[in-house]
Amino acid sequence: MPVSPMDIERRIKALRGQARQEVQGAPYAVYALLDPGSPDEPFEPGPFNGTPFYVGQTCEIETRITCHLRSPQHLTAEPALVHRHIAWLFAIGRLPRLAILETVQTRSQSLMAELRWGQHMLRAGFELANNSPDFARLMTAAELELWLDYRRSNMQANDAVREGVAIVHTCTCGHGDRWIDPADHALCRSKRLRLTRIAAETQQCPRCGNTCEWRLDDWDLLTAQWSLPPM
Ligand SMILES: [Zn+2]
Repeated sequence: MPVSPMDIERRIKALRGQARQEVQGAPYAVYALLDPGSPDEPFEPGPFNGTPFYVGQTCEIETRITCHLRSPQHLTAEPALVHRHIAWLFAIGRLPRLAILETVQTRSQSLMAELRWGQHMLRAGFELANNSPDFARLMTAAELELWLDYRRSNMQANDAVREGVAIVHTCTCGHGDRWIDPADHALCRSKRLRLTRIAAETQQCPRCGNTCEWRLDDWDLLTAQWSLPPM
């Protein structure tokens, strides 16, 4: 029998409480959603209280859980794979459970931990309703660095400030590198301001007007490298 909207709201409340207790205020959490199985078809015994079917990372675990359980009740034309999967669980009367896998201090650590857990789950034989093909790939160190750069470029300015990341613009006609501190942009702007946006806004070289190429680097490393006076 399908679960009722009231059952779903009760489960959301329970999972939010569980998350609050287990995450204990850490800035980022890596989590798995679990299929509880059914009385006649229980999940295989293992380290989790159910069969993992999704791995994610977030800085807002309670909001994310609510979204995971409410969105499947109103599927869009092209729903995310995980929403479709949860809608199917609801239809056969199952309410997802939650496992907090790890808590970390920065977005980069969170992305890396999510990748590690995703790969671990796949190797352990669990089928994941993640859209990310990254989990299934074994990456070389160089590929991993590119992957992390790509994922990090999408992080929010607040994430960048927390872990001391700078945007470095390199002018294609050889003018010196420019360093942009996301902290200068994070204040007074939307909480959801992303690094890609700041980079786009500051991409033009003030000396020649060319569009610079940009990458991310660590303030500590940059300043140590050039032993700048304190700013
Ligand atoms: Zn230039």
